[in-house]
Amino acid sequence: MIYDPDAESVGESSKEPVPTEVSDAIRTLIRWSGDNPEREGLIETPERVARAWREYCRGYGDDPAYHLSRIFHEVGGYDDVVLLKDIPFQSHCEHHMAPIIGRAHIAYLPGDYVVGISKLARVLHAFAHRLQVQERLTSEVANCIWENLKPQGVAVVIEATHGCMTGRGVRTPNVIMKTSRMLGVFRDDEKSREEVLKLIGS
Ligand SMILES: [Zn+2]
Repeated sequence: MIYDPDAESVGESSKEPVPTEVSDAIRTLIRWSGDNPEREGLIETPERVARAWREYCRGYGDDPAYHLSRIFHEVGGYDDVVLLKDIPFQSHCEHHMAPIIGRAHIAYLPGDYVVGISKLARVLHAFAHRLQVQERLTSEVANCIWENLKPQGVAVVIEATHGCMTGRGVRTPNVIMKTSRMLGVFRDDEKSREEVLKLIGS
């Protein structure tokens, strides 16, 4: 099978017309990188890159809180931690627009409400598909769950590698950056925090 650079993924953005100033900007960047944007292999690249960036950054059109608007009051007596572990995600750093590739672990201790588990991943992706720094991504996910789901505690742990560290600058492959944000009982109560970190495997 030959790799098709025009293989579609998701959304209408793939068909969206690309303004000339956007493709011109990418042609300028190609020239700046040292290549010739007019050579055959690069002729259609500016439009592909433009559409790819609409996809990488589709989180700007996605309201994270919306995913937590359908919550369930009936928890069936469940009063323990809910954990979604090892959620793969991709983001881009706001300093170099380089990929951030990692995994997130999201846990909460329900108050009166629970939410469909896939919604936690949607909240993550809505924030990740923007230009980010890992610290802010971690806080934004935790705060959004805290404010909308009103749980007793939230724990978000993110582990990721940064393209701007592995591919440029200090060039340190395989370095994993880890960030965490604890709220409610996971912040205030050491025993609860230890328990949730043990569940996460951190
Ligand atoms: Zn960076």
